[in-house]
Amino acid sequence: MSILIKNVELKGKSVDILTDGERITEIAPDLKVEAEHVIDKRHLAVIPSFYNTHTHAAMSLLRGVADDLHLMEWLEKHIWPLEAKMTDKDIYAGSKLSILEMIKSGTTFFNDMYWHPEVTIKAAKEMGVRASIGLTLLDGAGENGSKETVDRNFHILKEECNSTISLTIAPHAIYTVSEENLIWAKEFADKNDLMLHIHLAETETEVEGCIEKTGHRPVHYLEKIGFLGKNVIAAHNVWLEADEKDILNKREVKINHNPVSNMKLGVGNTFDYSAFKGVTLGTDGASSNNNLDMSEEMKIAALLQKHVSADPTRLPAREAFDMASMNGAHAFGYDAGRIKEGMLADMLLIDLRNPCMVPGLNVISDLVYAANGNSVDTTICNGKVLMEGRVVENEEKIREAAIAAARELIN
Ligand SMILES: [Zn+2]
Repeated sequence: MSILIKNVELKGKSVDILTDGERITEIAPDLKVEAEHVIDKRHLAVIPSFYNTHTHAAMSLLRGVADDLHLMEWLEKHIWPLEAKMTDKDIYAGSKLSILEMIKSGTTFFNDMYWHPEVTIKAAKEMGVRASIGLTLLDGAGENGSKETVDRNFHILKEECNSTISLTIAPHAIYTVSEENLIWAKEFADKNDLMLHIHLAETETEVEGCIEKTGHRPVHYLEKIGFLGKNVIAAHNVWLEADEKDILNKREVKINHNPVSNMKLGVGNTFDYSAFKGVTLGTDGASSNNNLDMSEEMKIAALLQKHVSADPTRLPAREAFDMASMNGAHAFGYDAGRIKEGMLADMLLIDLRNPCMVPGLNVISDLVYAANGNSVDTTICNGKVLMEGRVVENEEKIREAAIAAARELIN
């Protein structure tokens, strides 16, 4: 598949862009080439697409079910009982809904942690996005969250992996996974060259529980049992002391930040952006956000850092944009996040006629501070057009299936 995009704005200049297969092959004004698919519209700017590094995609089905609660009450009384009723059909419908929302707001990769990984893989493949799918370990979930299930799923699902789909081992958190299973997860991931995806230091309660159970703060505990390394992506990282941040940096742990989820669940502290390099951004699940719009996530990340430090120079727009795009791509080994010849063709065309993008003096500033995901006109992933003119294939069917599944689940 080749795509020719004519007369698109890149860093203030009008250019043509050619993709061939997975990659951007040529960028120049007025290219005289043929392509299988041509996009020739005025008033579009090209930017790299978003990489969402912490999601629970199927939770879109639970959007709006239980708001305004503390994390443990929210999980134990509302989310976990509903999740226990979810079938693979529900998870498929919820994953499709989330991927639809992601494509419509410019996200082409998500790093997921949920149940029935095989159906989320199926959904991602059908819709053409990249995904890293967690094989979840969670002691309280019985056979579903056991290491035997993870092991079995890995051997079945590794056949599904390719340049767009990968697997992670996903021990849910310190407070839900035993030491024995955390160590097993680490060894299994290392042996099979996989990443590990874990929630870390999200709330003060988690820290207190970890100290009570193990005698150590969360990062010290994970360091002691040999869990940390550069194949770990840790979500949240809110309640950390200085020496814990040093350990995460020393071990080259990938850092994911979820400002909207943290603020909505009132976790009571703020992630320290300045302590880490290459921070990536995620929405978390739609039931603690309540959407998957990385444009909103960038804005709130930037505002939160400025607000808590009383310093408006912290987390400038360009850095917030890199957190949402390039940093996430690099954390998962993808050669994307810049519009350059040779890079993967993961990119968005932004409608510059959207009133919040006018007068268009600084596209990155407009994207971070003014726009939301609705300004995305076209979404391209791995050299394939997933949305053009805001139209995604089968959108109505996906929406109807999600509504039906959610109604049956809640009633
Ligand atoms: Zn999460």
